[in-house]
Amino acid sequence: MSLEGVAEHCYNITQSYLDLANQTSIVDETKEAIKLTRDYLLKDIFKRWDPFSGQISFSYNGGKDCQVLLIVYLSCLWEFFKESIRISQFSLKFQKFPLEYLPTVYIDQAETFQTLEDFIELTKNRYFLSLYESPRNQTSMPQAFRNYLDLNENTEAIVIGIRHTDPYGEKLKCIERTDSNWPDFIRLQPLLHWKLANVWSLLLYSGEELCGLYEYGFTSIGGVNTTRPNPFLKKGPGEDNGEAITNHFSWEISNAYGKAQEDSSVPVTRVSDADLDIIQKTDDSAYYPGWFLIEDSKERAGRS
Ligand code: FAD
Ligand code: MG
Ligand code: MG
Repeated sequence: MSLEGVAEHCYNITQSYLDLANQTSIVDETKEAIKLTRDYLLKDIFKRWDPFSGQISFSYNGGKDCQVLLIVYLSCLWEFFKESIRISQFSLKFQKFPLEYLPTVYIDQAETFQTLEDFIELTKNRYFLSLYESPRNQTSMPQAFRNYLDLNENTEAIVIGIRHTDPYGEKLKCIERTDSNWPDFIRLQPLLHWKLANVWSLLLYSGEELCGLYEYGFTSIGGVNTTRPNPFLKKGPGEDNGEAITNHFSWEISNAYGKAQEDSSVPVTRVSDADLDIIQKTDDSAYYPGWFLIEDSKERAGRS
């Protein structure tokens, strides 16, 4: 595989999702969400900042939001590449994909779950990320980005997987400068309009491996000492086998892209033993997987 290969794969996933017909209302809504993000990227963003020249970086912390955005972003990168060769004179096979690795930045801030760190390492290889990792816990987010920009002078804009339903996300716009207490660059936020259900729907359909913590009832992942499985997903007595909460994504899971029919498992990474100890130390209840939750207002209920 190569960045070109995985970008084409992501394009195929997204295209196949957009071609779905007569599915759930969540799928219909998610198709509209994807189309808007695609328009932002192809019609606005890539016209102003060249994604192949190092002007754009992608902020990545291994969470579901930046993973789903990465899939759509890579899909658009592939489309942008195809379009650029269509208007040039040579045929596809003589044109080389202009990037080997995607410029990406991860600020290692809080005490991170080992499982999430492992996932970041895994997806760095999976998606061909040239991942800058800030030294752990050294400084504030704005200062960490200042350091990143000092080392990457070409960077003009950074993609962020923030959504309107996130804290302070309500009034954000897709393209805007950073605030005055941040280093000066352009924030690219093409996922703002996505609801939690849209994120799960495309992610589960993609067949891509997800961070294993989500299977344990996590819906939003922060630091080790401040994040627990979502209390709204806690199983009651005797609920271990039956499902008292509806899984809205059974269709996506059994019809995931490139997956054998009748396979109803979700590909997730292994949760580290250390993290299992942490999760079960204070509470050994069972939880439904994170994707059983679709209410945006409850997404952060496991965070303190
Ligand atoms: P999450 O879902 O955890 O994060 C949302 C997205 O932020 C992620 O998908 C990812 O793209 C990015 N992100 C979060 N944490 C990290 C990390 N540790 N390393 C790399 N990427 C990460 N706030 C302001 O008030 N003013 C600003 O001008 C401003 N500029 C920002 C510029 C960038 C590039 C980033 C990443 C953040 C900025 N923020 C700014 C903070 C931002 O608004 C969110 O508060 C912050 O991303 C944390 O998000 P979250 O934990 O609420 O949600
Ligand atoms: Mg998030
Ligand atoms: Mg966060």
